[in-house]
Amino acid sequence: MPDFDAIVVGLGGIGSAATYWLAKRGARVLGLEQFEFGHSRGESHDHSRIIRLSYVTPAYVRLAKQAYVAWESLERDAGEQLVFRTGGLDIGPRDGAIPLDGYAQAMRACDVPFEWLDAAEIRARWPAFQIAGDVHGLFQEDGGIVAAERATAAHQRMSRRLGAVLRENAPVTRVRPAGGGSVDVEAGGESYRARKLVVAAGPWSARILQFLDTRLPLEVTKEQAMYFEARDLARFEFGRFPVWIWMDDPSFYGFPVFGEDGAVKVTQDAGGLPVDPETRTFEEDPEITRRVTDFLTRVLPGALGPRRSIKTCLYTLTPDRDFVIDRLPEHPNVAVAIGAGHAFKFASLIGRILGEIALDGATPSDVAAFAIDRPILQMEAPPKTYMV
Ligand SMILES: Cc1cc2nc3c(=O)[nH]c(=O)nc-3n(C[C@H](O)[C@H](O)[C@H](O)COP(=O)(O)OP(=O)(O)OC[C@H]3O[C@@H](n4cnc5c(N)ncnc54)[C@H](O)[C@@H]3O)c2cc1C
Repeated sequence: MPDFDAIVVGLGGIGSAATYWLAKRGARVLGLEQFEFGHSRGESHDHSRIIRLSYVTPAYVRLAKQAYVAWESLERDAGEQLVFRTGGLDIGPRDGAIPLDGYAQAMRACDVPFEWLDAAEIRARWPAFQIAGDVHGLFQEDGGIVAAERATAAHQRMSRRLGAVLRENAPVTRVRPAGGGSVDVEAGGESYRARKLVVAAGPWSARILQFLDTRLPLEVTKEQAMYFEARDLARFEFGRFPVWIWMDDPSFYGFPVFGEDGAVKVTQDAGGLPVDPETRTFEEDPEITRRVTDFLTRVLPGALGPRRSIKTCLYTLTPDRDFVIDRLPEHPNVAVAIGAGHAFKFASLIGRILGEIALDGATPSDVAAFAIDRPILQMEAPPKTYMV
């Protein structure tokens, strides 16, 4: 008999959620993490991630509604608040590279309430924005923050409480299909057998998938979150300022003060250069710094006080920026998720879905758009669309 019902490779945001939901279903679970728990070499570290219902297709909006429910379940189990509603503002020029109309239509189709705001209304509500008359926005009151590091730690804590075995400093160095539909995994000098495998390896996914003769056209980039001591701090306090996304090319997003006293976090979306996760550095990217600083000077000058810190972080991008959430066609006992640089808000839900795919072979959630065999993922040199 296999040692475990399921082995989860990678205990970042998504893998830790998968161990929790699998264990909650009563499965015997082993989670394997190559570095120490909570490390900062992958995609999920730092205090905060934006969560929002505002998305560009109804499929994402429906999934986002389910994501809030999944977080509530974890919050109840863990006895800890992990999602903080601040309101979310999608904002940008009317002729910007990311039109807001699709977001409005998708929310309308899913009965999500929101408000259209013109520049004067935006300035009146949040005077920190220095914007011209051609700027408009969509405000959705459920937008907010997931306390990312605490959420991952809560998933891990609750997994253990439910009987899961979680190992850190246990790099998976081999995966092999075994007899009877099981899978053998070597990690940290030990061998394990399980009925099901869940791959949640983030930037290292390609290396795990190649053991299973699966290749995806993924690109890993090094992104950079920046913390500034806001000059005009009162306007950026938690409770007074929303999370926001600047919907143009380049696209930026940011937070009210959260996680670090007196500092706001601002990031360019998908502004980083491709890297290999093994050889990447943790150095500042001066081009991102310049673009973020120029943007703040123009649009949010009150945020631009002394720089507190920068944190580098990886994105694992699919060419269409959509997730992968599926079983491997040739190995149906292996489930995989790729977060495409916007998955933390969905992490608990994706973990639940991976558990359903692994244990039941299917999920009630609509993940058809995230199939691993969709045409663009079969292309040798697919066109890349990272603006969403
Ligand atoms: C700067 C930045 C800002 C972001 N902002 C947002 C946001 O506001 N909202 C949002 O929803 N999303 C956001 N994201 C995206 C989101 O954080 C990621 O999509 C999500 O964290 C991906 O989680 P993951 O578990 O797939 O990856 P990871 O957290 O990288 O986890 C993968 C884990 O697998 C482990 N692993 C890999 N290979 C092996 C192996 N061989 N053996 C054992 N372990 C292995 C790794 O060490 C790692 O811990 C942001 C990302 C970045 C970088």
